[in-house]
Amino acid sequence: MSSTEVGVKRVYDFAEGSREMRDLLGGKGANVAEMTRLGLPVPKGFTITTETCIQYLANDHRFPQGLDAEISAHLTALEEAAGKRLGDAENPLLVSVRSGAKFSMPGMMDTVLNLGLNDRSVEGLAARTGNPRFAYDSYRRFIQMFGDVVAGVDKDHFEHALSAMKADRGVEQDVDLGADDLRALVGTFKGIYEERKGEPFPQEPRAQLDAAVRAVFESWDNRRARDYRRLNRIPHDLGTAVNVQQMVFGNTGPRSGTGVAFTRSNVTGETSEPFGDFLINAQGEDVVAGIRTPRPLVELADELPEAYAQLIETMELLERTYRNMQDVEFTIEDGALYMLQTRNGKRSAQAMARIAVDMLDEGIVTEQESLTALVDPDQIRQLLLPQLDQSAAPAPLATGVNASPGAAAGAIVFTADEAERRGKAGEHVILVRDETTPDDFHGMIEAQGILTARGGKTSHAAIVAVGMGKPAVCGVSAIRFAEDGTIAIGERAFSEGDRITIDGTSGLVYAGDAPLLPPDPNNPYLLRIIEWADRARTMRVRTNADTPEDAVRAREFGAEGIGLCRTEHMFQGEDRLPIVQRMILAGDDEARVESLAKLRTFQEGDFEGIFRAMAGLPVTIRLLDPPLHEFLPSLVELSERVAVARATGTPDPEAEEQLPKVQQLHEVNPMLGTRGCRLGIEWPDVYRMQVAAIVSAACTVKAESGEAPEVEIMIPLVGFEEELRLLRDQVIDAAELVLRERGETLEYLVGTMIELPRAALLADEIARQADFFSFGTNDLTQTVLGFSRDDAENKFLTHYLQANVITFNPFETIDQAGVGGLVAQAVTTARAAKPGIKLGVCGEHGGDPASVVFFHGAGLDYVSCSPFRVQTAIVAAGRAALDG
Ligand code: PEP
Ligand code: MG
Repeated sequence: MSSTEVGVKRVYDFAEGSREMRDLLGGKGANVAEMTRLGLPVPKGFTITTETCIQYLANDHRFPQGLDAEISAHLTALEEAAGKRLGDAENPLLVSVRSGAKFSMPGMMDTVLNLGLNDRSVEGLAARTGNPRFAYDSYRRFIQMFGDVVAGVDKDHFEHALSAMKADRGVEQDVDLGADDLRALVGTFKGIYEERKGEPFPQEPRAQLDAAVRAVFESWDNRRARDYRRLNRIPHDLGTAVNVQQMVFGNTGPRSGTGVAFTRSNVTGETSEPFGDFLINAQGEDVVAGIRTPRPLVELADELPEAYAQLIETMELLERTYRNMQDVEFTIEDGALYMLQTRNGKRSAQAMARIAVDMLDEGIVTEQESLTALVDPDQIRQLLLPQLDQSAAPAPLATGVNASPGAAAGAIVFTADEAERRGKAGEHVILVRDETTPDDFHGMIEAQGILTARGGKTSHAAIVAVGMGKPAVCGVSAIRFAEDGTIAIGERAFSEGDRITIDGTSGLVYAGDAPLLPPDPNNPYLLRIIEWADRARTMRVRTNADTPEDAVRAREFGAEGIGLCRTEHMFQGEDRLPIVQRMILAGDDEARVESLAKLRTFQEGDFEGIFRAMAGLPVTIRLLDPPLHEFLPSLVELSERVAVARATGTPDPEAEEQLPKVQQLHEVNPMLGTRGCRLGIEWPDVYRMQVAAIVSAACTVKAESGEAPEVEIMIPLVGFEEELRLLRDQVIDAAELVLRERGETLEYLVGTMIELPRAALLADEIARQADFFSFGTNDLTQTVLGFSRDDAENKFLTHYLQANVITFNPFETIDQAGVGGLVAQAVTTARAAKPGIKLGVCGEHGGDPASVVFFHGAGLDYVSCSPFRVQTAIVAAGRAALDG
C-alpha cells in the first residue's frame, strides 16, 4: 500500500469499531470499541490503525498523506462530544495516547497521559475543577511522561526532583504534597526538560499530540518490544495502533481511584473473590508500574460501594461476551466508573487449566471452545514445573505477594544485564529488584525467578512473569537495598551471587536452596483437558525414550508407544563404554566378536525392560546412528596424553593404542560423515548384533507375557533406496536367524528415518523398502537449512533472531515453508507409492505445539517427543484436530 493512497481510512472512532477488528485497531482499540458497542461507560476517543504505523515506519518515519487531516477531523468530533477543547484555557480536554497491538504486549510499548496540558490549560483545569492540586499533579505527570517517552529525558531526573521535594517538605507520599508544591514542581520539571532536551517543553497541544503519536509508532520497534515479540513469536510486521482517548481522572480526590482487575484469579484460576488491585486518588501508571503498592480489589467495596458493584457486574458481562477470562483497567472519577480497557487476561499455567475446566462446567463455553480458545498447549509443560516441598522447607525469610506460581532457586542478581549474562552462561539466577520495569525484560527472560520489593499481582514483574511461566514473588517489603550494593531480607544480609529460593505459589522467600518437589502429573484439571484432547485428536502421540524408566514415565503421561529409542545411549554407560571401545579398537575378528557378544547381552536386557514397560504398544528402535569416534576420547585429548607420556617418559599404553584408531576415524564434518546407515553398511556386524538383541528380547517378553511386543526396527540417515534395500535384507536375515534358533515367530516392521533432503524428495522410491517412515526433523532441519545443529544455536542463530532474519528457532519450531514443505511432499508421495505406510515424526518438533499443528495438517499418523512433552503434544494434537 503506498503512502499516497487515497481513500484509505486510517482513523476510526470508538463507535465505529468492534472486537472483530483486532488486526486493524489492535487489541485495545477493538476492545474499547466493543465496550462502547455494549453501552458500557467508556471515555470517548479514536484509534489510528496498525497499518498506519507500518506505513509510517516504512515511509522514513513520516506521517502518511492524509493522516493529519483525519486526526484533525476526529479530534474536532471528540472535542464537540466532550464539550471541551484540547489546550483550552477555560475548559480543556485532556487525552491519553496509548499503544495497542493486535496481540497484547503489556508494558512493552509507550503511553502518554494527560496530553493537552500547558501553562494556560492547567489554569483552566484548576479553575474548572476547583482543584488546583489535581491540575498541577496532572501537569507534572504529563511533563514527566512526555519527557521520558517522547523526548527521551530519563525519568530518573524527574523522580529525583520529586523525592527532593518530598524530603524538603518532610512528607513520605506523593499525595501529601500540596498544590503549591506541585506548581513549583511543574516549574522544576520544565527546567529539567529544557536543560536535557535543549528546547522548552512544547506548549502547542496539537504538536504534543503528533509527537506522542509518533513516539507510540516508534515504540513498536524498541528493544523490549522486539524481545517480547521474539519470545512470544509475535510477527514483527503487525505494527501498533494508537488510541487517543478522553482522560478521566482517578486522581481528583478520595472519591476517585484506578485499578486493574481479573474476572478470575490469574494465578490460581479461582473465582472465590474478585481479583485485582486498586489505588485511591491515583492514575493508572501508578498501579501498573508498581510505583505504589496497591490494595486488594475487595477493599474497594468499602471505599466506593456503588462503583464497585457496577464494576463487578460489568466484569461478568465482559467475561460472558468474550467467553474468556478478562483483565480490565478501570478508573473512578468522583464516584463514576469508567472502563478503560478489557482483554483476555494472561494467566499462569495453573490458572489456565482451572479456568478452561470451570468455564466449561459453568456453561459459559463448550468443550470444543475451551480446548481451542482457553487451553494453551505451550503452558501445559509449566504445569509440570517444580513446586516447593512445604514439609521439608526451612523457615521462610520473608513473605510477599504470590505473583506467579512455581518455585525456583538460584544466585541473586540485581540487574537485568547481570541476569542475562549469567543466565546465558547457564547459571540459575533470581533477579531481585526494587520493582521491575519493561527495561528489565531481557534479564527476566534468562532468570529462573523474579523477586521484587514493591508491587502487587498486577505489577509489571507479576504480569510478565505469569506470561513467561516463571515463578515470581513481588512486594516483599522486608527487602532493603543498601548503599554498598547488598540487600537485607528481613534480618539477613545477602550479596550478589548468594543463593535464595522463591516460592511463587505461596509468596515465601527462603535463604539458600530449599527442597523442591517433582511436579504432579495427575493435576485434575489437566486430566480433564487431556480427556477432551483425546476425544478430538486424530494423531497419536508417542515418546522418545531410551530406558525402561523413561518409558514408564512417558506412559504415565499418556504416551502411546515409543517413536524413537536411540540405542547409542545404551552404549554410553560406565559398564558398556569400555566394551564398545574394545569392539572399535579390536585388532582381530575374534576380539571384535567377543565384544559384540558382550554388548548383545546388555542390549537384550535393555530391550526386554523397554518392551515390558510398553506392553501392547509399538516400540521403534533405531539402529546405531552416531559416528564411532563419539565413543572414543577426542583426538586433541589423546594427542596431548601421548605427547606428555612421551616427553616425560611415563608410558600411557591406552592412549598409544587408541590414538591411531582415533586418527583414522577422524572426520572434518562427522555429522555428514560415517554415521547412520553408512555405518551399518560398512560394519554389518554391529547392526546384526543389535537386531539379534531386539528380536531375542521380544521373544523373551512374548514368552513370559504371552503378548508379542510391537517391534519396529528403524534405520537412520538413509538417502538412497539401495541403502535401505541392502540393510532391510540384512535386518530380516539377522532377525530370522534368531527366530529360527529360538523356534519362535514374531511380526516386526522395518522402516527408516527421513532426515535427508534426498530421502524426502524421493520418498516414493524409499517407501518401496519401508514399512514406516519417521521424520527426523532435527537432522532434516540441519540438512535442509544447512544449519549445523551443534553450532547454530549458540552462534549465529541468536544474532539472526535479534536481527530478525528469521523469527523463531527452526530447531524448536518447524520451518514450515522449507522443512515442513518437504515433509508434506514426502507424506503425499510415500502414501501414493505405498498406501497404509505408517508415518510419524521423532525430531524435537514432535513436542512443540505449533509444529504439532503443522504435522496434523500434513497428515502424519503420530508425533513422538520427550516424556515431559507428551501431554503438551496430546493437547496440541487435540486442538489441531478441532481447528482444522
Ligand atoms: C532427528 O534427526 O530428528 C532425530 C530424531 O535423530 P537424532 O536427533 O538422534 O539425530
Ligand atoms: Mg537424526
